[in-house]
Amino acid sequence: MNVELVTIGNELLLGFTLDSNGAHLARELAAIGVSIVRRTSVGDEATAIAAVVREALDRTGAVITTGGLGPTSDDLTKPSVAAVFGRSMRLDEGILEALRQRWISRGWGTELPAANTQQAMIPDGASILVNRHGSAPGIWLEDERARWVAMLPGVPREMRGMFADELLPKLRERLGASATAVVVSRTVRTTGISESLLADTLKPVESALAGLSLAFLPGWAGVDLRLTSRGRSAGESAARLDSAAAVLRTAIGSSVYGAETDDLVRAVLERLRTAGMTLVVAESCTGGLLGSRITAIPGSSHFFLGGVIAYSNEVKATHLGVGDNTLIKHGAVSEATAREMASGVRARYRADLAVSITGVAGPDGGTPEKPVGTVCVAVDLRGVLTSARRQLIGDREEVRLRSTQWALDMVRQALDRDLSS
Ligand code: ATP
Ligand code: MG
Repeated sequence: MNVELVTIGNELLLGFTLDSNGAHLARELAAIGVSIVRRTSVGDEATAIAAVVREALDRTGAVITTGGLGPTSDDLTKPSVAAVFGRSMRLDEGILEALRQRWISRGWGTELPAANTQQAMIPDGASILVNRHGSAPGIWLEDERARWVAMLPGVPREMRGMFADELLPKLRERLGASATAVVVSRTVRTTGISESLLADTLKPVESALAGLSLAFLPGWAGVDLRLTSRGRSAGESAARLDSAAAVLRTAIGSSVYGAETDDLVRAVLERLRTAGMTLVVAESCTGGLLGSRITAIPGSSHFFLGGVIAYSNEVKATHLGVGDNTLIKHGAVSEATAREMASGVRARYRADLAVSITGVAGPDGGTPEKPVGTVCVAVDLRGVLTSARRQLIGDREEVRLRSTQWALDMVRQALDRDLSS
């Protein structure tokens, strides 16, 4: 099945909103063997919406729209698409009542604003896609030739919910037994290894990946390897991808930290659980970003105690016990300082393990000896110290993110050494 996607909203054309709805739908539909063959974005203008939807229908007979279902005057999707189908609009009392009840139950008042009435207007002969995540109902409109348009809300959370609850089951049913050839991907996540070294490492196992495509996707977290299977049944795809992913993991070894959307923090937390250890952090140039990443993972409270944001030299000295001599002789961005930060924070909070980060995130503050991107990380695992200095790439934001990833990787490696000894 081929589908065209029309995303609606001036904000998309102006570049204030990135079309994440299109990306989400493309991935979800691929998993059931539906291809999005064209994506069009159009502004909040009735004739433009109608023209784009009409052309898309002429090509594929199957169109999904997102956006423009709200209660404001720029929300024009329903009447525009109704016009394409030559249908008039009618007030749906059931929807109106549901909107009224929702309004009252939220304590917003007893009178539904007149603007909401627009959301209860639906094209003649349309069926409703129930919105369990917001107010605007979605619409399914189909003609006698089985050509259809599904209208979803613009708000990404509502769009994803309605797609999963209402549209996906409907499309599955339509596809029936023909939903055999699907597109499925698996991601193997690596960190601390370059793209070129990965390519060399994987050369000898290439034959095991035959018939699958392999993409190298570098980013601040490391290089993700994405395997994709096309044109096979869901079962066969899964089997092929699982065995290919296993081959990659074995060939790459310890630089693999997870799969799909796993965060490196999870790998660290699992090891802390196994080792029965607690973790603290001392952060200079990352200013709490590492602690924020760790605490974003549910359950981190069992292993993560907290830490110190030691941005100034004064805080490094008074709260972490970094020696004045160390700061004067080696500077704040040095392995010597990083080591004292790690030991200091570990002693202060009586943790098993501590990790520290100090660096030059830029854009200012670089020197010939310590250019922007110079970062030092130290790990203290029950008194066993390891540290390193690296030159990280990117702007301020990226250097900070890469610093946290590298620090987590240092912790992971220290735990692996400890667990295997
Ligand atoms: P509402 O009932 O909230 O008015 P709507 O269906 O009318 O919903 P829009 O008004 O078009 O939706 O968009 C609502 C929000 O969703 C906006 O903040 C917009 O930036 C965001 N949004 C719209 N389309 C997309 C898209 N394709 N990708 C990501 N975000 C989007
Ligand atoms: Mg809009």
